[in-house]
Amino acid sequence: MSANKILTANDLPAFTIENGSSGSHIFVICDHASRNIPLKLKKLGLSDADLSKHIAIDIGAKQAAQYIAKKFNTPALYANYSRLVIDLNRGLNHEFLIPEISDHIEIPENKNLSKADRQNRIDEIFTPYHNAISDKIEDLISKDIQPILLLIHSFTPEMDGKKRPWDMSILWDKKCDLSKKTIDNLRTQNPELTIGDNQPYDPTLLMGDDSYNHTAVKHKVKSILVEFRQDLIDTDEKSEYWAEKFCQAIKDVVQ
Ligand SMILES: [Zn+2]
Repeated sequence: MSANKILTANDLPAFTIENGSSGSHIFVICDHASRNIPLKLKKLGLSDADLSKHIAIDIGAKQAAQYIAKKFNTPALYANYSRLVIDLNRGLNHEFLIPEISDHIEIPENKNLSKADRQNRIDEIFTPYHNAISDKIEDLISKDIQPILLLIHSFTPEMDGKKRPWDMSILWDKKCDLSKKTIDNLRTQNPELTIGDNQPYDPTLLMGDDSYNHTAVKHKVKSILVEFRQDLIDTDEKSEYWAEKFCQAIKDVVQ
């Protein structure tokens, strides 16, 4: 690791684990939980207004994840840094791992990044985060417990001038029976809602083998990835209301 470390004593660690000692087989993960930028990176050259937008954070996702984790009494892992520092839901070779532009907004401090600075972000944030997920999965498997990961995200209601009508959505690889059952349950339990099936995008097309969560893929463990629409979950109260709908849909599925 280079001497020019990014995280200092005044910064948060790369992630926070809550309820880590819970013996549950379910593990809640929120990759895009935070808009924080390490102090040394000077807000990446962005305004506070830009750092409040969906480009920096999955608005409402952490609150929804905390509700779901509490409901099932599971451990939960939250990233403490913005996806603009390094996107934890991309593979290391993905072109937007450290984006220079996001939804038409340029990220000044991500331009012309040196190899060493790029590696520091990987070593100090990306690797510890994914190691924590691997450790939890391996710990459960060593106890003969098959983990199920719940991957909690949120999406912006509009992109490139197009409205995204889905209230919530499940992203999956068309193989996972848990995801299929969750979509069916959401639609049966909430006939008035528009439930997306690989909307607003198909993660396999966007991210290839790194879709969903590359650590989950690597370990071949089951997971359910939910995307909530951000304007529906932008207060604690609203995120809990929609998280509860997800809990109702999965409660029989994840037993
Ligand atoms: Zn996300």
